[in-house]
Amino acid sequence: QAKAAGRNTLRFYDPLMQAAVHRRATLELDMRIGLERGQFELFYQPQMDRDRVIGCEALLRWHHPRDGFVSPAAFIPLAEETGLILPLGEWVLRAACEQLARWAQDPAFAHLSLAVNVSPRQFHQSGFVDQALAALAGAGADASRLELELTEGLLLQDVEDTIRKMVRLKGYGVGFSLDDFGTGYSSLAYLKRLPLDQLKIDQSFVRDVLTDPNDAAIARTIVALGISLGLRVIAEGVETEAQRVFLERHHCHAWQGYLLSRPLPAAEFEALVRERAAQAGGAGVRT
Ligand code: C2E
Ligand code: MG
Ligand code: MG
Ligand code: MG
Repeated sequence: QAKAAGRNTLRFYDPLMQAAVHRRATLELDMRIGLERGQFELFYQPQMDRDRVIGCEALLRWHHPRDGFVSPAAFIPLAEETGLILPLGEWVLRAACEQLARWAQDPAFAHLSLAVNVSPRQFHQSGFVDQALAALAGAGADASRLELELTEGLLLQDVEDTIRKMVRLKGYGVGFSLDDFGTGYSSLAYLKRLPLDQLKIDQSFVRDVLTDPNDAAIARTIVALGISLGLRVIAEGVETEAQRVFLERHHCHAWQGYLLSRPLPAAEFEALVRERAAQAGGAGVRT
């Protein structure tokens, strides 16, 4: 029957496709159960300026009981497609705000900002601003410590609505970063209109910044662009001291990457912040 329908028609009994459909359905169900059973956890990757940890990025981790650790790259796209990103994203916001409120109690961590990734479907749902404000208020967290990371594609989907939402949240002190900058299609005209605070240089430009003159030129240009628009610029994916020095020399404000640390569970992240603060304190007067 399906065969008779011709070559370009979907064949529903294609075993490979059947397997893929099955895997997706299983993954989706596992995600729902995982959310109910508390299998998701936030890890924190430190972000540094010249000499101290200024904040971190929350990165979602899923401890699947059978498959072990599952990377967000493997489940965020499906969560986005199925709509499960809505409850999952809300959980992330709440967990992040609760962490911020705990850190606010301790002078060692009260200065930290916390960046949270927001996916397009999550951001464009009608109640997103209220959801974020409720997460902050529910936890008793300071909105000015929260940063939301948006991608270029998200920003361009409905520019007017996006700006309205950003402006409302900014009114409470929430900051905005443009993640993976340089990999999307945002025009400079939009960039000027959006109330952003920070650009994140995508790690694909950082990787070969010392060996590929094009990547070096792109990284330098993003920093210069950010500075002239009054934005802070942070580099992601910094793995070597030479990359860090290159970025610092070109006035990039901050960086994150394996050179300092992988994303860590909260307690390990806190230990790293304390250790770094002790080192900086021992180094004498800061300029
Ligand atoms: P992203 O926001 O661009 O995060 C950066 C990714 O690079 C993270 O991968 C991080 O672990 C990794 N990374 C950090 N430093 C280095 C480095 O020095 N070298 C290399 N090679 N990689 C580095 P991760 O944690 O697997 O997350 C992948 C993506 O999943 C994130 O990309 C983000 O788009 C998405 N994601 C993660 N957590 C969430 C979340 O809570 N909500 C949503 N909507 N998306 C999330
Ligand atoms: Mg990010
Ligand atoms: Mg801020
Ligand atoms: Mg990124």
